[in-house]
Amino acid sequence: MRKALVAGNWKMNGTINDVKELTSKICQTEWNDVDIMLAPSFAHMHSVSEILSGTNVLLAGQDCSEFDQGAFTGETSADMLADLGCTHVIVGHSERRQFFGDDDLRVARKARKAQIKRLCPIVCVGETLEERDSGKTTEVIERQLCAVFEMIENKFVIAYEPVWAIGTGKSATPEMAQEVHENIRQYSAAHSHANGSDLRILYGGSVKPDNADELFSMPDIDGGLIGGASLDSESFLKICCSAAKLIN
Ligand code: PEP
Repeated sequence: MRKALVAGNWKMNGTINDVKELTSKICQTEWNDVDIMLAPSFAHMHSVSEILSGTNVLLAGQDCSEFDQGAFTGETSADMLADLGCTHVIVGHSERRQFFGDDDLRVARKARKAQIKRLCPIVCVGETLEERDSGKTTEVIERQLCAVFEMIENKFVIAYEPVWAIGTGKSATPEMAQEVHENIRQYSAAHSHANGSDLRILYGGSVKPDNADELFSMPDIDGGLIGGASLDSESFLKICCSAAKLIN
């Protein structure tokens, strides 16, 4: 059985006071049926980590370096994240792929480094609108997964995030998302060390309180990676409630 997971990706937003307040509000509810995870920026990680200690809310990095340590200005190592209490790290987010040159190979190396350092990678995959319109969704996602599966062991999470749905307010329909999630599960069962039926596959892309129920009702959607809506505690908590109610 797969336990629901809802992760908030706060990206490069807010002040320390903003994120402390947001974290405290999210921690006021105790969650058992769903794993809740927060991914603050590295600059805010320590403050958030302190508030999370003693709760069962998980902490994740938004990215990590493919290298161990050394002269890599601006980078964050997997060890640094683990030191601050992270259990997970997002790799291959489309913003990293699009703006920071993270190609399939680098994403795979980051996922591998995370696992070596005992962090669970959340591997993001997804197609652009142009790729979807030209019928290449499956091909693109399998290419992205294949690169990672060649390098990692069995503990990971996949996040399907169609690039055209991220931050646009235009979510995939539940049926569109389900079709891709089902393919990802089958492909992962056949080509990775993961047991397909245990693998958690999150959907991300304009998830809001008013579409979370229909997305989370789909059999292969095990939770969400939430951007914009995770910056508002009320919206994020409503999405968490949907996951707790509908998944498992
Ligand atoms: C994201 O960036 O991972 C994301 C899903 O963003 P949003 O929810 O804002 O579309």
